[in-house]
Amino acid sequence: GATLGVLGGGQLGRMFVHAAQAMGYFTVVLDPDPASPAGRVSHHHIQSAYDDPDGLRQLASLCAAVTTEFENVPAVALAALAGRCTVSPAARAVAVAQNRAEEKAHFTTCGVPCAPYAVIETPEQMASADQSLFPGILKTSRMGYDGKGQARVQTPAELATAWDAMGRAPCVLEQLLPLALECSVIVARGADGHSVHLPLQRNLHRDGILAVTEVYEENVPLALMQQALAAAKSIADELEYVGVLCVEFFVLEGGRLVVNEIAPRPHNSGHYSVDACDVSQFELQVRTLAGLPLTPPRQHSAAIMLNLLGDLWFAQGEAPQDPPWAQVLALPGTHLHLYGKEQARHGRKMGHLNVTAASAAQARSTALQAAALLGLPAF
Ligand code: ATP
Ligand code: MG
Ligand code: MG
Repeated sequence: GATLGVLGGGQLGRMFVHAAQAMGYFTVVLDPDPASPAGRVSHHHIQSAYDDPDGLRQLASLCAAVTTEFENVPAVALAALAGRCTVSPAARAVAVAQNRAEEKAHFTTCGVPCAPYAVIETPEQMASADQSLFPGILKTSRMGYDGKGQARVQTPAELATAWDAMGRAPCVLEQLLPLALECSVIVARGADGHSVHLPLQRNLHRDGILAVTEVYEENVPLALMQQALAAAKSIADELEYVGVLCVEFFVLEGGRLVVNEIAPRPHNSGHYSVDACDVSQFELQVRTLAGLPLTPPRQHSAAIMLNLLGDLWFAQGEAPQDPPWAQVLALPGTHLHLYGKEQARHGRKMGHLNVTAASAAQARSTALQAAALLGLPAF
């Protein structure tokens, strides 16, 4: 069989490797960490920096096609690979997703509304930020994830302090919106322009980090669902995107849908698809990368995903201790996914628990029992 590569060795890369290997591909992971979650399960692991020309040359020479598993992959890496092997998503699409200012401009091009915002790159832009953007959230344009690189600001004075604290890095200031709920859509688009999507995911965040994803019918009003699917498709089409793309949305109090951001890869909110859909987001990634046909995924079970952060390992005190897996796994329809990270740390994504069931009510009941066993808040 052919060889598929992935830039980045985190949990997303690991689950890509699982899917690729199940379909008979040989896999190569490039990541500097010798113990990276994906490197540990891949046939081959190139231990090099993401921007190291030798490592990239080796990756390209081994692989028919290469994808990425994190959005902050250096543009030079994708550029170095392009021309030597198939690369998807393309550098241009990743560049848009890497920069909040460009990302928001892209939403405007697509006619999909996002939060009112201002680009803050100079002291003049900061000083002239419109009063209507307060209270707001200052976000670094690059490299932010899990709510890192963000500050809530009530006033222009707080904006000035927060921007200084961020080293005056290029930022966007967004109006703080009254959220009724958050949701996301995963789209897979092939080189021929044909796209398919997973069902709309409803997401709950705690402290800026995804905590729970719930996916079942009537989870979100039908009209909103259709609007979100159409918006996600147009965002992917306008980018001429090839690969798996996640589009995050806010639904405002009052019911208006606005787009938050995009991730040019499979997404934490799509992890349920491994156990609840006949095609997972990682299989979709393999299919788009290998140029295989895309068929519409079908969800066969109601699903709830609980993220397992490192905090769970410290529930008993200072020394990390495994959560009570056996008790959780005694509940029907629970599927434990751990990423093989050696060190549990507060806020670190260590794994997730998928709960599948024949009905939404059953999935909720089981997921709430699992959450209680793990000491997670109810939702
Ligand atoms: P991710 O890990 O999803 O990439 P991120 O660091 O890029 O996260 P965002 O998605 O921009 O961060 O924001 C994280 C969370 O903060 C959102 O899911 C939402 O709960 C809240 N949030 C962000 N922007 C706004 C806003 N303009 N108004 C209200 N809440 C917001
Ligand atoms: Mg983000
Ligand atoms: Mg986000």
